[in-house]
Parts: sequence; structure tokens; C-alpha cells
Amino acid sequence: LAAAPTCLQDNRPVFLNEFNKGEFIQLEKVNKAYGELVVMDNFDLTMRSDDRLVIIGPSGSGKSSLLRVLMGLEGIQGGTINFHRQHYIVGDKAKKAKIVDANIQKKIGMVFQHYTLFPHLSILSNLILAPMKVHGLEKKVAVEKARALLARFGLESKIGAYPSQLSGGQKQRVAIARALMLEPELMLFDEVTSALDPEMVTEVQSVMMQLADQKMAMIIVTHDMHFARNIASRVVFCANGKIVEQGHPDSLFTCPKEKRTREFLEKVL
Ligand code: ADP
Ligand code: MG
Repeated sequence: LAAAPTCLQDNRPVFLNEFNKGEFIQLEKVNKAYGELVVMDNFDLTMRSDDRLVIIGPSGSGKSSLLRVLMGLEGIQGGTINFHRQHYIVGDKAKKAKIVDANIQKKIGMVFQHYTLFPHLSILSNLILAPMKVHGLEKKVAVEKARALLARFGLESKIGAYPSQLSGGQKQRVAIARALMLEPELMLFDEVTSALDPEMVTEVQSVMMQLADQKMAMIIVTHDMHFARNIASRVVFCANGKIVEQGHPDSLFTCPKEKRTREFLEKVL
């Protein structure tokens, strides 16, 4: 990413209230801590259903925590998270997060850095297990769906293989296909290419670009700033449990307004 010769002026809205139109997900004053360590500090974030947010920030700044909270895997101590203007998660000081609506949780899919395929199951079984158990899908229908998704991602020939027989890039594409089997409205990606050999990064990123082209709502954590710039509708820079700055990638990467953003980008670009 070469520095742009001039700072592109971008007047697209970056402030919370202006993003409220057509609201899809809204985090309001979310607080999350592990003991004394605060990872979300009155954290506000709004997302539209046509947004592809890329979250960037220093290691340890709470990016994975944010995704795990959205997936309902982690508790929050305060604040609320709404999905289509309905309460999804409500913070609770005493207990873990209360997932108000488990049906909403089913609409969110997540892919992690390290492959989480079931090693003892074939690729087909990995794909059809949850849809049959969670959604009560008939086996025949699930298998057809799995076939179609695998074909779309160029993995048709791997349907009977086991995870250990696949490359890292293939495993990540299967993991994405598996999440899509449940027809999520939102996909979360936590550094899904970080553990891959360089030659496999592109095949996974192009699957994600395919989803972007089909208007899938996504929140992506990545250290790959080139990819971030290509896929993001908005880039969100987080540090110390807060959003430091957010904006369209063309403006955030070329003329960050905050000193902390500039310092971070100087290190990673
Ligand atoms: P990032 O993904 O931005 O690197 P994380 O969300 O993984 O950040 O972690 C934020 C901070 O919280 C880090 O300091 C990390 O060590 C700490 N942390 C993460 N998960 C836990 C946990 N389950 N228990 C205690 N501390 C945690
Ligand atoms: Mg992380």
C-alpha cells in the first residue's frame, strides 16, 4: 500500500447517528472485562446490513473479544446489542451475557483463525451436521446444499475427504462453507488467513470477496491491510476498548485523523 500523494477527501458519514439508517446491528455502551482487564469500554458500534466492517487494532486490543461477544460465546457486563432493532444480548454484571434471543444467535456464523473442522468427520458430514441438528434439515436437502456450496468454492472433489487430507486454504474454505450452510445474515471472520502459507491466502480471500459481492454482511478482523482496503465498506480502528477512528477505507488509510491511527498504520503498512 503506497501512501497516496494527496489526501482523498471523504465526506461519507462516519458518525454513529448517521449510520443508524437501515440499522442492522447496534452495540450500545457495551462493557466487557476479564477480571480487571477492560476490553470493551462503553463500546458503541452500528452496522447496516450492507456493511462489511474491517476491525483493525493492536494485538490485545479486544478484536477477537468483540467477535466472540457478537457470536454469543462471551459474556458482557453492561450495555446492549440489538439485531434488527430487537434485543439480542443484554449485559449483566453478575452473570455471563444473557442471550436474549437464541434464534438471533443462529443467524450469525463465525470462522476462526485455526481450523475448527471436526477431524473425525468427512467434509460432507462436517457440513451437514449442524443444519440437520440445529435446523432440522432433512439429510437429502442438507447434502444437496453442501454439494452446491462445495462446488461454488471449488471443493467438489473433497466431499468425501477428511480434514487431514486438505490443505490449510481448503480447510478454511470448508469452514466458511460450513458456516454458510446455516444461512447466516452476518458472518464473522477472525484472522482467518493468519495461519496460512502465503500462497493459500488468496484462495480464502477470494471466497470472502465472492460473499462481499453477494452483499453478505461481514465483520472481518485482519492484519492484511491490502485486503482490508479491498473488502471493507468501513474500517474501524480500535484501541484500549474503544473505537479510536472509523471511516471509508480510502480515507482512513490515506489520511487518518487521529495520531494513534497514524502510528498504528505506520507500523503495519
Ligand atoms: P485481539 O484479538 O485484539 O488481539 P483479544 O480480544 O484476543 O484481543 O484480547 C484482548 C485482551 O484480553 C488481551 O489482553 C487478552 O490477553 C485478554 N483475554 C482474551 N481472552 C481472555 C480470557 N478468556 N480471559 C482473560 N483474558 C483474556
Ligand atoms: Mg485476536
